[in-house]
Amino acid sequence: MNTKEVLGVFEWLTLMIICSRCGETRGEDEFYIKKNGKRWSGCKACHRAASTRWRNKNLECARESSRDWCAAHPEYYRQKRREWYLRNQEQCKQKARERRARIRAQ
Ligand SMILES: [Zn+2]
Repeated sequence: MNTKEVLGVFEWLTLMIICSRCGETRGEDEFYIKKNGKRWSGCKACHRAASTRWRNKNLECARESSRDWCAAHPEYYRQKRREWYLRNQEQCKQKARERRARIRAQ
């Protein structure tokens, strides 16, 4: 191994972070960065799992806070929804077709 390779391994090691929740070693991009520039101690997967758990436990509160958020950022919300729709257009159309077929079958 030459110096460059050793440095490469060292760099890789410093980029690997141990998640405080699942204990897995993960790359730097597997962690969210907080608004204050610090990194979350839990990895993205754990973070997502925790927020889903919270959401399921506090459905009313989550619904209300997302409603509040949408009301406060109508432009952003509309744009995000459009982006989402453009990305999932085919699925949406397929779902609509299925729904229509179901209604007709009744
Ligand atoms: Zn984790």
